[in-house]
Amino acid sequence: MLAVYFFREDFVKNYLKNMLLIGTLFLVGCSSLIQKKENASIIIKNGTVLTMDKNNKVINSGVVIIKDNKIISVGNKELLKVYSAKKIIDAENGIIMPGMINTHNHLPMIAFRGLGEEGIKNRLFAYFFPLEGEKLNRDLIYKATIHGSIDMALSGVTTYADMYYHMDEMAKATKDVGIRGVLGETVIKFPVVDAKTPYGGIEYAINFIEEYKNDDLIIPAFGPHAPYTVSKEKMQEIENLSKQYNVPIMIHVGEFDDEDKRLNLKNKSVIEYMDSIGVLNNRVLLAHAIHLNEKDLDIIKKREASIAYNPMANAKGATGIARAYEMLNKNIKVGLGTDGPMSSNQVDLFRTLSYASSMQRLKYNDRTIMTPDVVVKMATIGGAQALNLDKKIGSIEPGKLADIVIIETKSPNMMPNYDPFATLVFQANPSNVDTTIVNGKIIVENKKLKTYDIKKNIKQMKEIENDIAKFAKELAEKAKKIN
Ligand SMILES: [Zn+2]
Repeated sequence: MLAVYFFREDFVKNYLKNMLLIGTLFLVGCSSLIQKKENASIIIKNGTVLTMDKNNKVINSGVVIIKDNKIISVGNKELLKVYSAKKIIDAENGIIMPGMINTHNHLPMIAFRGLGEEGIKNRLFAYFFPLEGEKLNRDLIYKATIHGSIDMALSGVTTYADMYYHMDEMAKATKDVGIRGVLGETVIKFPVVDAKTPYGGIEYAINFIEEYKNDDLIIPAFGPHAPYTVSKEKMQEIENLSKQYNVPIMIHVGEFDDEDKRLNLKNKSVIEYMDSIGVLNNRVLLAHAIHLNEKDLDIIKKREASIAYNPMANAKGATGIARAYEMLNKNIKVGLGTDGPMSSNQVDLFRTLSYASSMQRLKYNDRTIMTPDVVVKMATIGGAQALNLDKKIGSIEPGKLADIVIIETKSPNMMPNYDPFATLVFQANPSNVDTTIVNGKIIVENKKLKTYDIKKNIKQMKEIENDIAKFAKELAEKAKKIN
């Protein structure tokens, strides 16, 4: 009995030992299989990927792999066997696209949006200038930029280009929310809020460029206001500095039909004038570009300058319709912009997408032009090309920075979704943006901002609104008398 007992105990011991060994081998085998997968930071799966690459490739049930701040692979479900990541985002059949790029803005004016909408003629003098003169300061610029950046992040804009004042405050706020900014310090022949002397913006810009030239999210730039508010000599000085620092120049051109008269030009267009003084090149972004002739477009093409097309702001301000369709046919780089929030009242690009197509069709009386894919291109890789950032952003391709948005397609306004480009241009709105990733960081997830306290922002904006509302009432009274 005793022997049997020992035998049995031995048997059980061995049995357990063997099972333990088999189990360990099994686990080791599994982990070695897992280890074979390459580590990534974020995997996005189960969505329609609009790559916006050269061939405009669309991948159904696509997968995007992000490592640190870059896209490392794009393809189909097979990639899930190759990569693992702690963070996996299920796009739930939504649209995965490059983050949108707003190529023209004056973001802090978001504090004033909705004012002076009562149909007065000279809104610039009745509202813009008094508001900026009385209310603009560093604090307002910071808080308004926070608000505007939140508005953009929640609506799928991952990069914006801006011309305004106190660009260092704008840069701080833009980075606090976590989006990308091409920030052009305004240069103008008058004293302004951050420059007591005319053209003081040049010095301000140089300091700003020095401070931010190697930043991850901020691309510093020059923002000469317009050829008629910046002298020839100062334009040339800015051009030289832009070359020296290799930074962009953003300028308003062709917004009004009398700019040649304002410049006292005889038998010369504004574009010909700019070309003759040597300030048109591939570092220059022309905002609006409405009142241009065909020769102007040829010069712009030759000099490789680019355009920020602002269809919604131009329609609202009745300034005209730019020849965007012809520009694209001439292979001029064209991006989409909203202009400042007093001009189009939106900083996201969704309504602008629809305007971009519809306004061109009206202008050329042709319903076949400006198809949705062309418009989405302007809002993504086209904008990146216009800002000379197309090697880094604007498409979903390996090696590019991970600026990606996911647009859900479950809301009633997004169904049906036969053609994702058409859905984006003619159906979608900012509330459909589910996820926003900038530089590999998730800043919006499940439609919620992750980078800034939204309650704090609401409180800040309410305080600004209450303060400005009182002053705006006085302006409205004055405006009534003038009108
Ligand atoms: Zn503007």
